[in-house]
Amino acid sequence: MSEAHSPWKLGTYWYDKESVSLMQLKEAGIAYIELNLDNYIPPEEGLTPAMRTRYRQAVDAAGKAGIEIWSVHLPFGNPWDISTPDDAERLAIIEAHTRVMDWARDWGAQVTVIHPSFEPIPDAQRERRLKLASASVSELSERARLRGLKLAVEDLPRSCLGRNSAEIAALIGDAPDAVVCCDTNHLLTEKPEAFIRFLGNRIGTLHLSDYDGVDERHWLPGRGIVNWAEVLQALIDSGYGGPFMFEADYKDPHELVQCYQSLMKLVSDARTP
Ligand SMILES: [Zn+2]
Repeated sequence: MSEAHSPWKLGTYWYDKESVSLMQLKEAGIAYIELNLDNYIPPEEGLTPAMRTRYRQAVDAAGKAGIEIWSVHLPFGNPWDISTPDDAERLAIIEAHTRVMDWARDWGAQVTVIHPSFEPIPDAQRERRLKLASASVSELSERARLRGLKLAVEDLPRSCLGRNSAEIAALIGDAPDAVVCCDTNHLLTEKPEAFIRFLGNRIGTLHLSDYDGVDERHWLPGRGIVNWAEVLQALIDSGYGGPFMFEADYKDPHELVQCYQSLMKLVSDARTP
């Protein structure tokens, strides 16, 4: 019997106001989290000392539980949109993200995930907004590098920037240190395995969940239309070496571990002649 190919450690998104306890995650076999912060609120509310203290408590709790902070999801929403047309505003937003990157570095994270825009992006503005977001990605990925971090640009659904592999390639084209966060349930016009194969070794982190192909759903893998055997093979072929990071809804973290085991079986079955 062939051993299942299992190159990845398990991770999941985690948010202190909603998610299960870090001890429960550890006990189930989760090694990493992506720390999520409060979104939509403006930087002057999101970057206060009180917020910093709150997040620090979460980081300390992870340390106590023996869980590593692999990544921090940089805040998103209108006040954090790196494609904002007004240049002074956009530069202030870059500064705000930089403050969060300072925190992420202090928390021991390796990756910071960023959304290329908020929404909606009107068609008439799309080209210009892509250029602005791309300039922001260049600047922020360099600032990430100086902090020992990677900046990971995430694919997004609907009218958001970065809605397919071509747009993601354009967004990171002038940013050699930027990587990609592949969200498998955000691609509405392209299969995730095609996205992964196109971007290859630029994939630096993952948001794994399933969907119906109509809109994002954040279902556990297996419930929707994603061809997981193809996605996993594409990740293996791309040499993806980060954690198997879920961004799926679940009740009990053992569901994530069971899900991973059944997905890995798809790969080993595909390899059995
Ligand atoms: Zn995201």
